[in-house]
Amino acid sequence: MHIQSKLPNVGTTIFTVMSQLAIQHKAVNLGQGFPDFMMSETLTELVAKAMRDGFNQYAHVNGLPLLRERLAEKVAKLYQTNIHPDTQITVTPGGTYAIYTALTTVLQPGDEVIVFEPAYDSYIPNIEVNGGVAVRIALQYPAYSIPWDEVRAKVTSKTRIIMINSPHNPSGSVLSEQDIVALKSIVANTNIVILSDEVYEHLIYDGIRHESILRHKDLLERSFVCFSFGKTYHCTGWKLGYCIAAPSLMAEFRKVHQYNCFSCDTPKQVALAEYITNKEAYLLLGATLQQKRDYFRNLMTNTAFKLIPSHGSYFECYSYKGLSNLADKDLAIYLTKHHGIATVPVSAFYKDGTDNQVLRFCFAKQKNTLDKAVEGLIGFKG
Ligand code: PMP
Ligand code: GLN
Repeated sequence: MHIQSKLPNVGTTIFTVMSQLAIQHKAVNLGQGFPDFMMSETLTELVAKAMRDGFNQYAHVNGLPLLRERLAEKVAKLYQTNIHPDTQITVTPGGTYAIYTALTTVLQPGDEVIVFEPAYDSYIPNIEVNGGVAVRIALQYPAYSIPWDEVRAKVTSKTRIIMINSPHNPSGSVLSEQDIVALKSIVANTNIVILSDEVYEHLIYDGIRHESILRHKDLLERSFVCFSFGKTYHCTGWKLGYCIAAPSLMAEFRKVHQYNCFSCDTPKQVALAEYITNKEAYLLLGATLQQKRDYFRNLMTNTAFKLIPSHGSYFECYSYKGLSNLADKDLAIYLTKHHGIATVPVSAFYKDGTDNQVLRFCFAKQKNTLDKAVEGLIGFKG
């Protein structure tokens, strides 16, 4: 049998590659982004209770109504924006699916999507499988900031979407108010849609405010904003998230969603609808993860790697320029095999494999995991 590949140049995602290598070599896995500590026992119990209470059949196609109502309340408090739970929120099986569905909803063959690299690894395949053309713009190294003049220069009559991601994976950089001003001026009086990946909305540090698209009514009118419960509640394996958009955009999104997923896991939505009323669970998240980042940062001063500071996400990047001449992918493999620590090479987030000699480390781990991981690195002198 032969079929023509829709993604002829795509291999296995780097997260799977590095996680499997970590298992094979019994290395500490700071590669793939997932916490190695337990999620909330209360939330776990609420899921068990929902199942026992009989919430085991299909949920509403757009997401459990109570959960959507409570999400709208959360958004109103956090971002001072009123969104309608009936017309503007859809619960999805994860943030990645929300992003994919938004792209499927909007893109016609040949449409251009501006995407910043390093880019989360699903973005470009998701654009291409939907017939779009990724117009790649490199974030300015090492701050990983957006070169807005280049964005202006690359907007054409075919530009359909600009994708943004803050806090950013893999760099941990965050958008500022000035970035939002620049974005507004570029999209004003155009038909450009914004696709904003905000799965790390609560994982932001150093007293910085998350510049959500949801703060800006004028931008929300043209945006799909994607979130992940997995990131907020330390349950990445649940694969549950949601998308918020203007009613007219959301109506189209739902046409795609209803024939693809239809509805998401019911007991988990019932549990989340209850647990989301506990504001501390997400409001204290930044402080908890910042402690982990700082603990990890401090450990890393004992190694020869050079910090590229992050202000958000699960990740911090380190440069090994001057330490080794290996390509970052080769170094990541070498460290997994010989120093017992798995990381992610940042070149994997560039379509052309741009290699700035940077590795990404996930610090959302228990202290002893971080201790053990860095212990292995201390002996690496290049
Ligand atoms: N976007 C970014 C930037 C991510 O790092 C991730 C990884 N979890 C996702 C989206 C996907 O989230 P989910 O696991 O809910 O699909
Ligand atoms: N978001 C996580 C990361 O960036 C992992 C997601 C995945 O494995 N697909 O590492």
